Amino acid sequence: MNAANATVDTHCPYCALQCGMGLRPVERASGASGDGPGVTVVERTAFPVNRGALCGKGRTAAELLAPGARLTSPLVRDPATGELAPATWDEALDRVADGLRRAGAEHGRDAVGVFGGGGLTNEKAYTLGKFARVVLGTSQIDYNGRFCMSSAAAAHARAFGLDRGLPFPLADVARTGCVILVGSNLAETMPPALRYLTELRENGGRLIVVDPRRTRTAEQADLHLAPRPGTDLALALGLLHLVVAEGRTDEEFIAARTDGWEKARAAAMAHWPEMVERITGIPVPDLRAAVGMFCGAESSMVLTARGPEQQAKGTDTVGAWINLCLATGRAGRELSGYGCLTGQGNGQGGREHGQKADQLPGYRKLDDPAARRHVAQVWDVDPDALPGPGRSAYELLDALGGEIRALLLMGSNPVVSAPRAAHVEDRIRSLGFLAVADVVLSETAALADVVLPVAQWAEETGTTTNLEGRVLLRRRALDPPPGVRTDLEVLGALAARLGREKGFPADPEEVFDELRRASAGGPADYSGITYRRIAAEDGVFWPCPEQPEEAGAHPGTPRLFLERFATPDGRARFVPVVHRPAAEEPDEAYPVLLTTGRVLAQYQSGAQTRRVAELNAAAPGPFVELHPQLAARLGIADGELVAVESRRGRAAAPARVTAAIRPDTVFMPFHWPGPGRANTLTNPALDPTSRMPEFKVCAVRVERAQQV
Ligand code: SF4
Repeated sequence: MNAANATVDTHCPYCALQCGMGLRPVERASGASGDGPGVTVVERTAFPVNRGALCGKGRTAAELLAPGARLTSPLVRDPATGELAPATWDEALDRVADGLRRAGAEHGRDAVGVFGGGGLTNEKAYTLGKFARVVLGTSQIDYNGRFCMSSAAAAHARAFGLDRGLPFPLADVARTGCVILVGSNLAETMPPALRYLTELRENGGRLIVVDPRRTRTAEQADLHLAPRPGTDLALALGLLHLVVAEGRTDEEFIAARTDGWEKARAAAMAHWPEMVERITGIPVPDLRAAVGMFCGAESSMVLTARGPEQQAKGTDTVGAWINLCLATGRAGRELSGYGCLTGQGNGQGGREHGQKADQLPGYRKLDDPAARRHVAQVWDVDPDALPGPGRSAYELLDALGGEIRALLLMGSNPVVSAPRAAHVEDRIRSLGFLAVADVVLSETAALADVVLPVAQWAEETGTTTNLEGRVLLRRRALDPPPGVRTDLEVLGALAARLGREKGFPADPEEVFDELRRASAGGPADYSGITYRRIAAEDGVFWPCPEQPEEAGAHPGTPRLFLERFATPDGRARFVPVVHRPAAEEPDEAYPVLLTTGRVLAQYQSGAQTRRVAELNAAAPGPFVELHPQLAARLGIADGELVAVESRRGRAAAPARVTAAIRPDTVFMPFHWPGPGRANTLTNPALDPTSRMPEFKVCAVRVERAQQV
């Protein structure tokens, strides 16, 4: 806190960049959104990641704090009218405890599901995982982060033995020689990060952007490769083929620090450049140019985001890009390597501390007996009583109303954000009992039996872990409005009602201290990180183990793998991968490819940003982006209503005709519910390893629509 003007230093509630910002107290003017004490967002230049820059989402983030903009009373569905009606907290919590208890008693513990979110702080994610496994005794917990970066996490762990989004600080991007950015439109998803790419080019480095659309990010590139959606794997294999053919492998690095090269090499050599051109649509000279830039620099990086990751072969796709890094010695060295640009605010920390179906805190594996013993001892429970791994996010949602009868959902809006969303909505409607804790009445909360209004980022202290693995402190800057409680208070109150009086404190620092112990000795070791240290150092990179006093404090680990990879023998693993088609390729009935994504002014399902006037005005609704050739063939003019239909349903939105997209592909952003809901169309085909659905590619037919 800055004593002079009482500004509180904190971080943005939205994306994984976790931009630093200040919150300054103001008196809200009376109006529709309520008067009284509030805060306004101010610049905080000292935080190194964004150095004061904020996008429109961060700049307007305080608007949702006003009482009129959000829920301030619990809501309980009245059985007589079928409507949600205000209730007391006791009534609401009793109803939730009863709904969860009853489903477990009647149908077994795994009939109760828990669904979390990548926006929850580390403390909440940790407590939610503990609540599911200790209080409810259910294995059925997962979270929307599964839809975010799980393929990159799986590939990262498979190759390097450990997954941290970026194994180096973002600032290294500006100092390397070449970056291949695959499937990220960070100019719109995290605009302050664009400056690292600008600096890269100002420093003489080269930028290659891989994206089927000529996005604002692609416009910055030295080379834009626009592959057919779903073919990023073939592209990476084609580049590796050329690396080998042109004698650009780093044999010394391969021999000294890796295993498995021969099989990976053989797999790549089966993907001839001409064949890759046929699959991806990228001309061979462009493939050669990319290899020249990537290998011509002294250091280089590959960064991926949702484009290659949200595919039914996402893990292998990311694995192919990792193989390219390993074969050229571009990993485990300063200013070189592979990294994933995580999406959600705490997508990184959210997956480290136990809300993922197969993980315990500290990135420990739920099926590892030693990990179970360690965490059970911290939780003071019998390790044999801890449930095993449960269903992944989509599989869990698909089981609602079937094997799962009751659901507690926190910080997620799957009615808009899940694939095959109309089906997911049906599943949610078929539940015997649904409780949702949220800030606003999202489309999912509107279906609940009980809605619990919870505090927001600026109203409670907690930690998040940004895309670099930097653990950060969000500080409480103002009190929540009357009628609102924190998620930790909610979980503590529910635990008490379900027979666990102890072990669920409402104080976030107390939770963090327990999390530190639970993570100690694990892959994501937070034991040496304290609130005091984070505040003093403006973030600490994990792993950061607690050390004996005489050794001094561990400095944290900004850069991973420089000496050894995190595998048992310290060597990275090549994994041989081969191209395969998307789960659903175009055919006569559905001849066009659909890909989905984000726009600058909206965030994820839009539940928050659609309620912010400035953001809503900037991006008021969905659209269908299509190439002039396709538009002409279908007789569609710019602005006309377009129907897009897949095997899962139909969506309609105005056309945006632009040459910035491939002629065989249409694009829809996914932030809106209703007739323009893009996820009505998307394919839930799952990656066999990460269980990531194939959001990024499916087959559709497109036509001029008469009505929505
Ligand atoms: Fe917030 Fe992300 Fe925008 Fe930064 S880039 S202000 S973290 S939404």
